This record gives sequence, structure tokens and C-alpha cells, in this order.
Amino acid sequence: MTRTFFVGGNWKMNGSQAFCESMVQTFSGQATDNVEVVVGAPSVYIPYLAQNLRKDWAVAAQNCHQLDSGAYTGELSAEMLLDVGAKWVILGHSERRAIFKESDELIAQKTKKALSKGLKVVFCCGELLEEREAGQTQQVVNRQLNAIVQTISPEDWQNVVIAYEPVWAIGTGKVATPEQAQEVHAEIRNYLTTNVSEAVSANTRIIYGGSVNPENCAEIGKKTDVDGFLVGGASLKPSFVTICNATA
Ligand code: PEP
Repeated sequence: MTRTFFVGGNWKMNGSQAFCESMVQTFSGQATDNVEVVVGAPSVYIPYLAQNLRKDWAVAAQNCHQLDSGAYTGELSAEMLLDVGAKWVILGHSERRAIFKESDELIAQKTKKALSKGLKVVFCCGELLEEREAGQTQQVVNRQLNAIVQTISPEDWQNVVIAYEPVWAIGTGKVATPEQAQEVHAEIRNYLTTNVSEAVSANTRIIYGGSVNPENCAEIGKKTDVDGFLVGGASLKPSFVTICNATA
């Protein structure tokens, strides 16, 4: 089975209308072959980007609510995001876990809702520095994965990409070594074999996130179980295209 390389940009709470317009221009017409590219933008810019971004790239939201509708001031449902052109949503990002106190169970509920509506999911997992230093990396990642394994169905996995993002590498400039990334990705694949199925394990894209940039992406991208990247800071620059072409 070939797993198409996947590169997601996570703009976080950055950008403006003018920035979106300039990125649309910058990215248009630049070759990105054999790679699926998704731009995770602040929700207010999704309609513009869905209309104007090159058509072979898709737009992602960075969060959604776990319910359909109701008295949840400030929240957005999966259906609303789809309605304005999002095709993907990033869920379980470490900033949402740490700052907004999202639990494994809540993230699993959000994942289930998004998938049930037709929104594809980039599911983020990863350990804190102290957890790595205590030798608990796999235990933490497995716990985060357990919640969604128990909540979604085996068929749902075709619409999920797993982003392994060690928290100590996010926005810090301290990228994991290619070997560190490969080790955890291989463990995640083993986990999927044991807890979901051989097919889901073979077919699910496992991407790495944490201080990926145009200089370090090629080495990490060569690893057998690294199927792409989730990119924060470096996705706000025109050279994001270089990362999209890491394995070209
Ligand atoms: C992220 O926010 O998902 C991320 C990986 O950020 P950065 O690339 O800036 O480390």
C-alpha cells in the first residue's frame, strides 16, 4: 500500500485577510507533486481560502465542537466548517490540550463528530519533555490513541491522519531527530496493528510535527514510517512549498 505523503500547515492564531491573499498568490502554480497539502487556517479565513486557494490543496479548521448545534457561545460545529469549505480539522493539538484543557475523551468525541459529518481529521498526539525523560513516551501516546480507538469505527480510519507531535519540539526549534521520529511512528503503527487492524496500520498516514523547516524536512521525511509533516511556524512562509516537496 502506498501512503500519499501528507503535509499540513497549522497557521494557529496568525494571519489576516491581506496575508491570506498574499499566500494564495505565493502558492499558486508552484509544483507540489505526489503530496496531499492541507492548510489549517483560522476559521474566519476558511471561506476565502476555500474559494481562492489552489484547488489541489485543501483547507482545515483548527478545532470544532463535539455537538451539532446549541447554546455554546463562540463555538463552531463540524457542519458549519464543512459548509464554508473546510475539508479537514486538526484535533487534539497540544495547545488545545494544555491551554484549553481538552481531555483525551473530549478530543475523541470531537473526532467522532467531525468524521460522522464528513470532515477528515488530523489527530495530534505526543508527549511532554518530562514524560519523554521519564521513559513514558509510548505510554502517553498510546493513552491518547486509546481514546479515539475506542470511540471511532475501523472504517473511520481512512479519514484520519495521525500527527505525532512531541510537545517539547513544538515551536521550540528543537526538532526530534529522524531516528526519534521513526521510533515513535513505528510504535504507533504497531499499536494500530494490535488495537485496530493490519490494514488500518498499513494504510494510515503518520506524520511528524515539531519545528519542521525547509532545512530539516528531507532527512525526517526519508524515514519509513514518516508519511508527512504537520508544520506550524514554517507554514507561514513561502518556503512552506519546499517542505511540501520534501520527498519529491
Ligand atoms: C504545530 O503547531 O503543530 C507545530 C508543529 O508547530 P512548529 O512547526 O512551529 O513547531
